[in-house]
Amino acid sequence: MIYFDHNASTPVRPEVREAMRAALESLSANPSSLHRDGQAARAAIERARAQVAALVGGAPNEVVFVSGGTEGDHAGVIGAALALEPRGRTFARSALEHHAVHGAGDLLRRLGWAEHEVPATADGYVDPAAINDLPREVALVSVMLANNETGVIQPVAAIAARAHARGMRVHCDAVQAAGKIAIDAAALDADYLVLSAHKLGGPKGAGALLVRNRAPYEPLFRGSGHEGGRRGGTENLPGIVGFGLAAELAARDLEAERARLLALRARLEAGIRAAVPDAVIHGERAPRLPNTVNASFPGARSDHLLMALDARGVAVSAGAACASGAVEPSPVLSAMGVPRDLAVCALRFSLGRTSTADEIDQVAALLADAVRAARGLAPAGSGR
Ligand code: PLP
Repeated sequence: MIYFDHNASTPVRPEVREAMRAALESLSANPSSLHRDGQAARAAIERARAQVAALVGGAPNEVVFVSGGTEGDHAGVIGAALALEPRGRTFARSALEHHAVHGAGDLLRRLGWAEHEVPATADGYVDPAAINDLPREVALVSVMLANNETGVIQPVAAIAARAHARGMRVHCDAVQAAGKIAIDAAALDADYLVLSAHKLGGPKGAGALLVRNRAPYEPLFRGSGHEGGRRGGTENLPGIVGFGLAAELAARDLEAERARLLALRARLEAGIRAAVPDAVIHGERAPRLPNTVNASFPGARSDHLLMALDARGVAVSAGAACASGAVEPSPVLSAMGVPRDLAVCALRFSLGRTSTADEIDQVAALLADAVRAARGLAPAGSGR
């Protein structure tokens, strides 16, 4: 199988697997216990905290370990919102956010908050000037660093500067960006930053929320003092050890891997254009992650093309939501103004550490045939 779905999850690095196995074998005490074994477990967690902080240029004491991106987004948005209530009960998020941030926003609305959406441009990013159009009661605004579907990198530093000038705090989901592009938390200046281990060579079920510069924050999980009182619950020690090492290795390899993936991405885009001349690559005029290509193949429905590629040994993601026989355009592509007929024909190819030029060439060689097969299954542009 050629695996081009690294934005969904990327394989655990062998060194990480080994470190986690060793942690499971030898670090079985509770990291909160005061005896020597407990102290050894605690030391492993603190080492990982420093490794994760270093990946994004943060301080170790800003890192709160959580169970992944979804929890990090909920903790970041709701934990900030609870602490910011005196400032106002209005939340804003970009139209491009991941479901996890939409979910946190739903919960805030359930708690009586108002929500505003910040629009996206046709190129797939949020114009920082849009922050000036938000109502002044907004206490918290959420804008991701890189979009999971298109890979488009958002101008978060410029957005944060405008938001801060208006007294708003900034939450940033950096789940897809971390390990793929350099992140300098100080330059970005988001108050809350979220990472997930399984997107950068670590295990599923581990992640981090960075609460920066003592930004206002209230814990979601209470009753015990773990993580400096910011997240109750005995830590996922093997997951955190794996996350820490994956972060260190990602930081070490970042530049070389970025350049390698950029060359592969260009090769893939050239292959797509040669095989399917009417393909449309979304967000291509904006700065993007080096590993992500989101393309529509007119007349070939996302789900049909995904299955045609699967049958030919290629794993990708649909760029549209497919459920019970119907396809709906992705809200991200809709927010960019992509017409429905085109949006329901989108696929995401996401490359990673294991991807090779030879794999790209194989996919390019079988793409035209897969698109022909998918086009044969549905009337062009059909949503059903
Ligand atoms: N945020 C973004 C941008 C993502 O792409 C994902 C995962 O797809 C998440 C959050 C959720 O992360 P997790 O799978 O660790 O819960």
